[in-house]
Amino acid sequence: MTAATQDVPALAARAALNLPYTHVDDIFIDGAWTPARGTGRNPVIDPATGEVWGSVPDGTPEDLDAAVGSARRAFDDGEWPRLTPSERAAYLLRIAEEVEKRAEELSLTNTRENGSPVSESAGAAANAAGIFRYFASLAGYLEREDVRAFPKGGGESVVRREPIGVCALIAPWNFPINLVVIKLAPALLAGCTVVIKPASPTPLSLRVIIDAVAAAGVPAGVVNLVTGSGRLGDALVKHPAVDKVAFTGSTPVGRKIAAACGELLRPVTLELGGKSSAIVLPDADLDAMSEVLIRSSMRNTGQTCYISTRILAPASRYEEVVDMVTRTIAAGKQGDPLDPDTVFGPCATESQYKTVLEYVESGLAEGARATTGGRAAALGGGLEGGYFVEPTVFADVTADMRISREEIFGPVLCILKYDDAGGSVEEAVALANNTEFGLGGLVFGSDPEASLAVADRMDTGSVGINFFASNHAAPFGGRHDSGLGTEYGIEGLNAYLSYKSIHRRAKP
Ligand code: NAP
Ligand code: MG
Repeated sequence: MTAATQDVPALAARAALNLPYTHVDDIFIDGAWTPARGTGRNPVIDPATGEVWGSVPDGTPEDLDAAVGSARRAFDDGEWPRLTPSERAAYLLRIAEEVEKRAEELSLTNTRENGSPVSESAGAAANAAGIFRYFASLAGYLEREDVRAFPKGGGESVVRREPIGVCALIAPWNFPINLVVIKLAPALLAGCTVVIKPASPTPLSLRVIIDAVAAAGVPAGVVNLVTGSGRLGDALVKHPAVDKVAFTGSTPVGRKIAAACGELLRPVTLELGGKSSAIVLPDADLDAMSEVLIRSSMRNTGQTCYISTRILAPASRYEEVVDMVTRTIAAGKQGDPLDPDTVFGPCATESQYKTVLEYVESGLAEGARATTGGRAAALGGGLEGGYFVEPTVFADVTADMRISREEIFGPVLCILKYDDAGGSVEEAVALANNTEFGLGGLVFGSDPEASLAVADRMDTGSVGINFFASNHAAPFGGRHDSGLGTEYGIEGLNAYLSYKSIHRRAKP
């Protein structure tokens, strides 16, 4: 540590970090870290400081061919798809243990890549391990014999659930570990082999997951990792030796991938953007709502796909809701994501920071009222170059404003008013469903039946009542522009299976 960094806490904290990966020149192919073919490199930037602290190869078509070729051979000729599901589940359980051993390096690498507060990233290893264990528990489902009688005429059908093949797993930067693991775990249990492409800003934390996979003894070629730009992602989607694509990311990129997969008739799962609403029913307990508000509406500095960033407040309690939301958000500490007390970190990238500030400007220009925040945050202590936007609450938002319609993906909440005269929730439901997206949603209310009735009317893939969390065992997916297909649960496993029916009779 130099004298200069000692005076600047954020830089001193970073100088003291001992992360396993910073500048690397290899990718993971055929069970080993292997030098990349090309010489191009992409930087890894700490969004809290703006400093370049790492770099990775900008993968070339040759790198991609090597990675996909490795996965193809492991699928076509290797043992992995031929093991029993229980044998593969035993590997998943070992991976879970290896992931847990690496919890600190996973958390700190994730935080340094994308600025997720450590209070958030500290949970990544446990969550990833939980996902591996959950899918391991589904081995019995795959092994259960499935024989179905013909409705008439005799004979029976044996239904096989076979691995779909070589899978391309493409992830965004907001949860760089778990948005891969939620694809990797079911793919592995099913017997598939994979090629992973992380997002350009967050290529390093996933290497720690690869180390866990290798330490668990997963055979060579089953899991491969390339790094590179969206161009490499596009080439991976279209690669002739790929059988299935699983993508999480933005709606515009998802559309391009869907088009490519449509042309190729290649199965694809898409988890895309959202613009979800929290309906505050007239009888809601606002103190209790305050306790879960940041988790459900501003998680990860607003960079979470399913959070409900539109708060729909009843006219009868509008100012009360605005006060509560404003106080709750203003009380969350913004600062160095490495500080365990930090609630709000920076935007993950400079381009995201600019996008969020443009949305804040557009909200102000369209007449929304910023009750807290509303500008870039000026932080000291070494964070001057970071991509911080003040957590912002906009009241008096109307349905036609851009901030109300488009996914912002930053620390910005919108509060809209609905007419609850006579206890009606019609306008709230209409506002919630008036979006191209359909990913998450929330209902806050004190009457369980009334809350459930409203949740049932929301046109979306998941809804929370008085809290929101994803459950490994329940399907998660978006409707409309939020995606195609589901992850999590047995439904998520099915996306990595190909069915075959063998119809048989004892005699012709
Ligand atoms: P993005 O720009 O769509 O990128 C996602 C991934 O796709 C990255 O690895 C990216 O590589 C790659 N990519 C870019 N262009 C591609 C192409 N033409 N073909 C194939 N791959 C391509 O998304 P992001 O900005 O990283 O992430 C934020 C978005 O993800 C938000 O919209 C958010 O709502 C969504 N999200 C959805 C969920 C969900 O489960 N529904 C969860 C989290 C986030 P580069 O990074 O190199 O460009
Ligand atoms: Mg992007």
